[in-house]
This record gives sequence, C-alpha cells and structure tokens, in this order.
Amino acid sequence: MNPNTKIKVTDRCAKRLSTGHLWVFDNEIKGIEGSYENGDIICVIDGKGRFIGKGFINDHSTITIRLLTFSDEEVNRNFFKRRIENALRHRLALGWSQDDSFRIVSSEADFLPGLIVDKYGDTLSIQFTTLGMDRLKDQIVDILKEIFSPEAIIERSDIEVRTKEGLKLRKEVLYGSIEGKKLLKQDGISFSIDLLEGHKTGFYLDQRENRQVIKPFVAGKKVLDCFSYTGAFALYAAYYGAKKVVAVEDSGKVISSLKENIELNGFENKIEVIKADAFKWMREIYKKGERFGCVILDPPSFVKSKGARDGAQRGYKDINLLGLKLLEEGGYLITSSCSQNISASEFMNILKDASVDAGCLLQIIEIRSQSKDHPILVSMPETHYLKFIVGKKIPRK
Ligand code: SAH
Repeated sequence: MNPNTKIKVTDRCAKRLSTGHLWVFDNEIKGIEGSYENGDIICVIDGKGRFIGKGFINDHSTITIRLLTFSDEEVNRNFFKRRIENALRHRLALGWSQDDSFRIVSSEADFLPGLIVDKYGDTLSIQFTTLGMDRLKDQIVDILKEIFSPEAIIERSDIEVRTKEGLKLRKEVLYGSIEGKKLLKQDGISFSIDLLEGHKTGFYLDQRENRQVIKPFVAGKKVLDCFSYTGAFALYAAYYGAKKVVAVEDSGKVISSLKENIELNGFENKIEVIKADAFKWMREIYKKGERFGCVILDPPSFVKSKGARDGAQRGYKDINLLGLKLLEEGGYLITSSCSQNISASEFMNILKDASVDAGCLLQIIEIRSQSKDHPILVSMPETHYLKFIVGKKIPRK
C-alpha cells in the first residue's frame, strides 16, 4: 500500500475517468510523485494535481492502473468488506437467495477490479485476476469466511489473463474440502458441476436468465444446442418441452459431464449427444437435409484480443449462417456472443450479413445480455460482454 504516491495522467485519460471509467493505460501516465511497488494502491491525479481516485498499479500490464474508488477514503479491510456486502445486497434484492448459485462479485462491475466470487450453494469459487487483488488474497478470503461461513472456498485463478499481470495460474481448495462434483438444482433442473476442473468457475452462470426465456421457442420443437458444454441449454430445452434435442460438443473432457447431467434428469431418450466440431457437423447434416425448429448457438469467445477481430467476425458469421440454414421456415435462432471485443451493434450486423447469405429475413424477438448478477457499468463498455439474441427465420418471399 502506498496511498501517498501520486500518478499524474493525461488530460484525455482524466476526462475518461471523470465519466466513470476505471482504467489508466500505460501510455496515459504523465508523471509519478513518490514510489510504488507493483500491486500497491496509489492515488491518481490530473494534470493540475487534482485528486481523481485510488487504485491498483501494475506497470507490467497495459492496463496499468485500475481504480477502486473515486473518493479519498481509506482503502482497507473495511473498504473491501463493505464492497462485497454491497454486491451481495444487490443480488439478494434482485431475488436470489443465500442457498442459490450466482455471481456475488463481478470484478470492475462491482468496483473490485480483479476479484470474481461465485457462489454454488454453500461453496464459494473465487478468482484473482489482478496483482493488486492477488496480494490481498488472505484478507479477501478472511472477509468471505466472515460474511458467508461457507462449507468450502475454491480458488480458480487458472485463467489466462493473469499472465498479463505477471501472475502464475493457480487452482486449489483454500478452505474446507470438496469431494467430487457439486450437485445443484437450478430452475428445477439438476446439475453435477465440476468446480475444480470445469470451465470458468465450473458453470456458465451468466446465461441463467437467458436459459429461462427459451421456453416458447423450444416447446414442441426439434432443437439443436451447439457448443453445449455440460448441456445447460439442452437440459432447459428438454425440461421446457422440446420434442427432441441434439447437443453438439467437441471437447472429450466435458462430454462425460454432459452425459451425466442428462442421466441425472432422466432425459436419455430426449437428448442426443454428438461429439463433433460444430462447424463441420452442421455443414454435413445440412447437406443431408436435416432441419430444426430451433437452433441454439453459444460458442466460446472467438476473439480474445482486439487483433483477432476479423477472424472472430468470420467465425460468428459462419456459425450463424449455418444455424439459419439448418432452421425450418419460422424456426428460432437463439444466438450468443461472449466476446468483449464484438459490440452489440457489430453482432447485429453479423446476423444481418448471415441472414442475407442464408437468403432469409431474421425477425428479432428478444435482445438480452448477461444475467443481472453480472452487472454492466455504462461508463465501461468492457463490462458488457455477453450478447444474446433470439430471432425468427422468415422466408424472403
Ligand atoms: N452453452 C454452454 C456454454 C458453452 S461454452 C452452457 O450454457 O453452459 C462453449 C463450449 O463450446 C465449450 O464447452 C467448448 O468445449 C465448446 N467448443 C469450442 N469449440 C467448439 C467446436 N468447434 N465445436 C463444438 N464445440 C466447441
């Protein structure tokens, strides 16, 4: 902690921070008064020496400062406890209960850059993605124990972005013990979740509310769920009355969990699992003439960096084009993009291009985003990463 150190930023940066953005990039630093160690909390000032806020500094990263507060308050254990309690209060006010599974802290969007806390019933799964937050790990874990009295706390800091902060990847049980997978029920559906080996912290909690809205689009239909992972959309579709569901996933590692979840819910006769590359498989069955009443697409982020945008746009266009081609007339396309670098309007344009190439029109029925436990800061478009759209395929003539 070095709260007396002051970092002067460019006018352009000061202006952006004044709108509520939380990042200072490496080329926006104009001067340093005092000393710091990477991971310290320092003060940010504008060109005239006026206080802007306090945040973590790490000159190893292009995002050199991440603000924690715009006020000149003390950033101590109480500060972090208050922030976590506020984040929890916000979720409980929206209807989640203490027994539920949801994201409690969503990093910058909850003014805690570099901290993710997910709750799976009585177990917490946490991630530290910035050096500053990583250095406070013991304090944060202590606060979490105090607020939640959890059965177990798992650290899933095995996430690539840590390398940008000069941090090693880490995965361990920090508190309590965890035996095998965690059994959970969400919206009437049972899931066996691998909290130590699963993607993210084990599950895609950010799509929960989107899964809840698919009922009218899947009921009575033959549904394709591409990029199925452990089958969440496929299971919701079956539960909501789909006639049949085909779940396509190419990772051998997750297929066993997908099958386990199907058995857990007794949907063996309804959901067929295909281990295949979705792009290839969709092309093949299109040629064979197979069609669906609803196609669900939830691919991984095709674009991890700004440089890879072109390839990603092609990926999204291709997969949505294939999805549209596989739909019957009047069928529903339920499509997502979790790429932070593809904006909502760009995604919409990609869908337009795909519909032109598919020779159909696409009538948008729902436009949604990440679940409410993953809030978005209007001042930080970077926090709006998930795009979720439901469209109806309409013939051109
Ligand atoms: N829909 C899921 C989450 C999908 S995550 C849910 O709601 O939980 C994306 C998934 O796509 C991952 O499981 C990944 O293994 C899979 N995947 C990535 N590339 C693929 C490809 N080319 N074909 C099929 N699956 C793929």
